[in-house]
Amino acid sequence: MKNLKNALLLKQLYQLKQLGYKYTSVTPYKDEEQDFTLPNTLESLEKQAQECHLCELSKTRQKVVFGEGDPNADILFIGEAPGAMEDSSGKPFVGRSGELLTKMIENVLHVPRSDVYITNIVKCRPPNNETPTPTQAHTCQPYLMKQIELMRPKLIVTLGATAYHYLTGDDTEISKVRGTIHTQNDYTVIPTYHPSYLLRNPSAKKEVFDDLLKVKELMGK
Ligand code: URA
Repeated sequence: MKNLKNALLLKQLYQLKQLGYKYTSVTPYKDEEQDFTLPNTLESLEKQAQECHLCELSKTRQKVVFGEGDPNADILFIGEAPGAMEDSSGKPFVGRSGELLTKMIENVLHVPRSDVYITNIVKCRPPNNETPTPTQAHTCQPYLMKQIELMRPKLIVTLGATAYHYLTGDDTEISKVRGTIHTQNDYTVIPTYHPSYLLRNPSAKKEVFDDLLKVKELMGK
């Protein structure tokens, strides 16, 4: 749980900075006093995430958007961050891009949306729908990693550059990397465009359609 430790350390350093410290030799936390393990069930992990205050997004969010779908799904979709409608409902991808994602899943993969699992890189809405900062993404990462560990999906479809970048650490342009197949740990990653990009650039739907056909083929559907 090195990431969670780092997240707590970062939070404590921010607090010291707010108190006026520029340099500090203070050891902000004591290892043995903290339990750095995240819960081993999805329900308890969600409970913990619902009470998370590790980054500043917790101050402006209405609801934590942990994720939804079948916890035993073979396919996990990862987006960037909740938007306004997700923030007020607590559910991922319920706005316009969510409608499009649902169509992509149901009309191309031919499975109900409830048969896959959908989550985001960060679980709280960034104000003004800004791209999550590296600190926000890294702070939230232990939740995503634990979700993946507990769900053990066979295939992860990352939606857009942010999701691909923070899941794999690769910052190759999304237009170059989409539709390619990567093996990482026990799962396969296929990056594709984000549905909100498709709303602005409908001509890219064909490429996403091709990417999803690959997903279908890999899943033997
Ligand atoms: N965009 C995302 O990346 N995630 C959501 O949940 C909604 C919109």
